[in-house]
Amino acid sequence: MQTRVEIADFENWRTVAGEAAKLLSSGEVVAVPTETVYGLAACAFDAGAVARIFEAKKRPTFDPLIVHVAGIRELARVAVVPDGLQQVVRELAGAFWPGPLTMVLPRHEDVPDIVTSGLPTVAVRASSHEVMRYLTKELGPIAAPSANRFGRISPTSAHAVMSELGGRIPLIIDGGACTNGLESTIVAVEEGEKRPILRLLRPGPVTKEQL
Ligand code: AMP
Ligand code: MG
Repeated sequence: MQTRVEIADFENWRTVAGEAAKLLSSGEVVAVPTETVYGLAACAFDAGAVARIFEAKKRPTFDPLIVHVAGIRELARVAVVPDGLQQVVRELAGAFWPGPLTMVLPRHEDVPDIVTSGLPTVAVRASSHEVMRYLTKELGPIAAPSANRFGRISPTSAHAVMSELGGRIPLIIDGGACTNGLESTIVAVEEGEKRPILRLLRPGPVTKEQL
């Protein structure tokens, strides 16, 4: 497969993002920039498309993916937030979304098993990058793990994505270097006996102190 690279700059990013949206809605995968690292995107509700992410990355299916949403209003499409967690989830999203914070929450039944590796929870974030924001607004939830082959370093440039996945995916959107360059912070948000519990699963740009 020939891998095209399209540069998304200030002037033409909408056109390029539109091309990506077309590919994604036809069940393809596309590498896209985010503020953390480059992601390999597919429509989250399209299990066949998500399977292509695992194939391209050679990722084992027991390793669940992060789902991107446009914002807190779209969270309900992929997660079922219990009453006891509503407030803390609203506060965390209010403070850190769009941005590099991923929350692990009880999953919505519409999310295909392949996305969560069959887990009862789903990892969700809202990226601040305009390309990912555009895609989630146009297409709904987007599954996107880092755009590297399994077990390798997460790419922070289109060039690095090309050396990882060139020939395996149809399109890389080149949005320049990622501003954070560090994978998102992952926090599990769970119900405790008296109050919600936050468990830090992966340290990242949003620190424990900030949380
Ligand atoms: P990546 O998107 O490549 O940074 O990888 C996503 C990572 O998020 C996985 O390797 C897991 O460590 C974590 N993750 C995704 N979904 C869940 C979940 N439901 N529960 C706990 N961790 C998760
Ligand atoms: Mg990764």
